[in-house]
Amino acid sequence: MSAPPRFTGMPLDRASSRRSDPEWVAELGGAPERRAVVAGPDSVVVDRSGEALLRVPVTRPEILLGLEEGVPLFAVELDGDAPAGGRAVSLREAGAMLPQSEGGLAAYAVALLNWHRRHRYCANCGHPSEVVEAGYMRSCPNCGASHFPRTDPVVIMLVEHEGSLLLGRRAGWPRGRLSVLAGFVSPGETLEEAVVREVREESGIIARNPVYVASQPWPFPASLMLGFNTTSDGGDPVARDGELEEVGWFSLSRVQAAARHEGDFALPPPVSIARFLIDRWLARR
Ligand SMILES: [Zn+2]
Repeated sequence: MSAPPRFTGMPLDRASSRRSDPEWVAELGGAPERRAVVAGPDSVVVDRSGEALLRVPVTRPEILLGLEEGVPLFAVELDGDAPAGGRAVSLREAGAMLPQSEGGLAAYAVALLNWHRRHRYCANCGHPSEVVEAGYMRSCPNCGASHFPRTDPVVIMLVEHEGSLLLGRRAGWPRGRLSVLAGFVSPGETLEEAVVREVREESGIIARNPVYVASQPWPFPASLMLGFNTTSDGGDPVARDGELEEVGWFSLSRVQAAARHEGDFALPPPVSIARFLIDRWLARR
């Protein structure tokens, strides 16, 4: 069976229950062995081996990722050049090159820092908010509102009809790249309803019987991809809502050729859950 999706398998103890103890949090700042990983909005710093994130001494312990074999591990902003002994790579590169657990840690650090970066002000009253619970919450000193890290759900779905897959190309993607369809879940909607709506809006095709397969953190900047398999009665797909430049049915043999880099189009890179769903479908044929 195929390996789990990249950006999953984060290995730290998140210390969720202990974060609410201010004394415990205060003691963390004095832990001499504490370390941090370094991340930007879409990048992380890896060590010279390229097989792990760089751990650096931390001077401003604020955003605690968790405990790594009992040792506090924080996240700090990449500010300018990478620190000595490391180099900055994009999060997509990191997902492709790092072992599973370090890739999961990279996605987690970027996601948590992205939330703090984009939520410095209280969404209720506009006053600057403060970090509490060692980074798992922000609190407003003006109105008392509490704010928690958010994750935006996105459904992504494989649609099959008689051995062919529904694939589309978004405007702005590399030429020749095709993938399965995806879209944000709307308020007041179940995941299954979102799957059916997105496929209909983007292609005019009616998807049936969505079955959940797997999920993947996708912090660009704060999504959680929720992968589904569906079937369809077929029909002529038409790109309708302006998001897709092209959409159509692609036979098993054409998808197999694309997976071997011998086809007339390109599949999404292995780092994505889109490719995970397609590879899983191919493996079952
Ligand atoms: Zn407020």
